[in-house]
Amino acid sequence: MTRNKYLLFGFDMETDVGSTSRNYEGVQRGTPEIVRILEKHDVRATFLFTGDCARKNGNILSMIHQRGYEIGCHSLFHEDMGEPSFPTSSQGTVLEEELAHRLELNIAVLKETTGEDPVSFRSPRGFGSNNLMETLESLGFRIDSSYMQSMHLERNFPYMVSPDDWKEAGRGRILELPLLAFDMENVSDNTYQKKLDAWPRIRTHGAEFVFNGMKPIVERQLAEHGMSALTFYLHPWEFFPMPRSIRYSEGVLQYDEFLYKNTGEQQAVELDRFLQMCLEDGYTVIDVRTFLEVFRA
Ligand SMILES: [Zn+2]
Repeated sequence: MTRNKYLLFGFDMETDVGSTSRNYEGVQRGTPEIVRILEKHDVRATFLFTGDCARKNGNILSMIHQRGYEIGCHSLFHEDMGEPSFPTSSQGTVLEEELAHRLELNIAVLKETTGEDPVSFRSPRGFGSNNLMETLESLGFRIDSSYMQSMHLERNFPYMVSPDDWKEAGRGRILELPLLAFDMENVSDNTYQKKLDAWPRIRTHGAEFVFNGMKPIVERQLAEHGMSALTFYLHPWEFFPMPRSIRYSEGVLQYDEFLYKNTGEQQAVELDRFLQMCLEDGYTVIDVRTFLEVFRA
C-alpha cells in the first residue's frame, strides 16, 4: 500500500467551551477519551497546550508525554497572537514586543515536563501574522497550523511560508499546515463562514459527512502533488458534555449550538468511527513533526 494520504490531528489543549471558560473539565476528563481512541486505532497525534493549561494540568501533560505523543504550543492564555480574521470578544492582539516572551513562557512550562523543545504551534482562533511567523522561527518552531482555509480561502496543501506574507508560499523555514475546509459547492450549510470549516463537523454532522466532504480535496491534492495531507483541529472539551450557557458575576454567556452540540460521548463515537473509516480507506495518521520529515523527503 502506498502511504500518500495523510491525516494530521492537532488537539488544542485549552479551557472549556471554545476557551471562553476558566475550567479545564474537558482537559481532565476528555483527554483520556481521546487517548483511548487514538490507542485503539494505533495512530499518532499532536497536543498543543497553552502555557496555562500545561501549568494547571500537569498530570495530563505528563500522561500525554509518557505515551509518546508530540507536545506543541498554543499560546500562553489563549490570547490573540495575530491579525483577527473574525470579530471576537477578546481584548485585542498582544503587542509585538510581548509576543516572544509569552511564547518563551509557553515553551518553558512544557519543557519542564517533556525536557524537549516544542517545534509545532497553532495560534488561538487561527489568527496569524508575518510577525508571529518570524517570532516562531526565531524560537525554534518549525511547524505552524493556523491558516484557516475557511477564512483565507486559497491554500489547502502544506507550504513553506513566505517571509513577506505568511499566507503565501516562499522560502521561510516554517511549514504551514492549512486547516481543512470544504468547498462551498459541496455543502448547503454555510451560514457563518465562506468555506465550510471541517471543525466542528465530525461532532455536529458526523463521521460520514466529513469523510465524504474531504474526498474531492484529497483527489485534487493527489492529482496535483502526488500526495494528500489534511489537517484537523479538535479540543478535549468536545469530549466532555459542555453547558449551553455559563453564568458569571456580571452576566450570562449563552453559547451557539455548534459549541455544545454532541459534546461528550457522541464526539468520542464519531471520532472513533471517522478514524475507522479513514484507516480502512488507506489513510495514514501521524503527528505533525513526523509529517515534516515526510514533507521534506
Ligand atoms: Zn484554541
